[in-house]
Amino acid sequence: MPIIGCIADDFTGATDVASMLVSAGMRTLQTIGVPTTSLDDDVEAVVVALKSRTLPADEAVTQSLEALAWLQAQGCEQFYFKYCSTFDSTPAGNIGPVTDALMTALGTDFTVACPALPANQRTVYNGYLFAGGVPLNESGMQDHPLTPMTDANLVRVLGAQTHQRVDLIDYATLSEGSEAVEARIQALRSAGVGIAICDAIDTQHLHTLARACRHLPLVTAGSGLALGLPANLADRLPAAGQADALPAIAGREAILSGSCSRATLAQLEHAREHYPSYHLDALALADDFEGVIAAALELAEEHLDRGPVLLYASASPEDVRRAQEALGVAEAGALVERAMAEIAQSLVEHHGVRRLLVAGGETSGAVVNALGVQGLRIGPSIDPGVPWTTTFGTPAPLALTLKSGNFGARDFMTKAWGMLP
Ligand code: ADP
Repeated sequence: MPIIGCIADDFTGATDVASMLVSAGMRTLQTIGVPTTSLDDDVEAVVVALKSRTLPADEAVTQSLEALAWLQAQGCEQFYFKYCSTFDSTPAGNIGPVTDALMTALGTDFTVACPALPANQRTVYNGYLFAGGVPLNESGMQDHPLTPMTDANLVRVLGAQTHQRVDLIDYATLSEGSEAVEARIQALRSAGVGIAICDAIDTQHLHTLARACRHLPLVTAGSGLALGLPANLADRLPAAGQADALPAIAGREAILSGSCSRATLAQLEHAREHYPSYHLDALALADDFEGVIAAALELAEEHLDRGPVLLYASASPEDVRRAQEALGVAEAGALVERAMAEIAQSLVEHHGVRRLLVAGGETSGAVVNALGVQGLRIGPSIDPGVPWTTTFGTPAPLALTLKSGNFGARDFMTKAWGMLP
């Protein structure tokens, strides 16, 4: 039975925290939304990926409580509300309202809040969040289109969103060790504080905090705290050394790309030197959708027996602009996503593809929907933040990796295959 149940407020954040749990020794499954069926896998942690970060607060609360109820039904013992390391939220929420609701549902009077991820230059000092070495409200996040962060003081920011009293566990206490932190938690609790913002300016602070949280039913944090929690459970993680092991999945291999990000374009250039490829032109798709797809699949069928085949719509900024001017920005994106989804479905259903690499965040969303993926067992990372996974919910399990645009080194698309069992 899983021990840690995590509720993540967006999809890539869910993969991030899941990868952290795996790297720290817990076999982990990530679900896409709240599953309708029970867990059928032998894992120690489950991460439910919601898309609740910028929903109206009451909807985010409803979804988070549904996720909590499902995780409780699977047997989870400790719960983790995962948000962004830049504490993305508005005065209306959603970090405060969701935390309040989870605390009430779990019957607990205290939790911590710590977005820090020092390895990525997200640190909290005296309650102030720094990103890239500067205060949050000078980091560019003050101009975020959906969740502008104009105050770096998290005690104030969270205080405005929650019914709980908010106070601080500072770096000096964290530097003293987990017993000092536990004593501070007791003192805050006695004083009626419900949520403590926790400093962390290096990774050791996160390990100390995780140790001090071992008896809390709920923690709230960025992905960083996940590095420390598995150590609390060491005697219950028999397979800790192989937490990223995946079952072997045999079958044909394909790469689908709808990402036009710079890193992806460089990866495609490299991959084209190694694999047969077909470029799906957006304007040609608008002209003859089924014809272009048939041509792409025909090329794939011709080569799939000899190794990976690359099918991509990705294009240079000029070509993308030309397609957008002709078709409309949203329409061009949707058209290409629909093409990628249809190709993915056909490759799996009719062409024997079982190992699939998808580049592009939105593209991945479209592909995952088309394939009926309900969840992902998290395996070894190909590059930081991009693990191989195996799917559940699909008629047969697939090996799948979902790469968001700017992730991965130049040889990502060629080296990935050698990392599968
Ligand atoms: P990334 O993770 O790099 O941002 P996404 O898949 O999230 O990639 O977004 C890329 C968007 O660009 C998708 O909506 C995709 O359908 C669209 N797109 C891909 N190729 C083209 C193209 N040639 N012309 C216009 N839009 C395209």
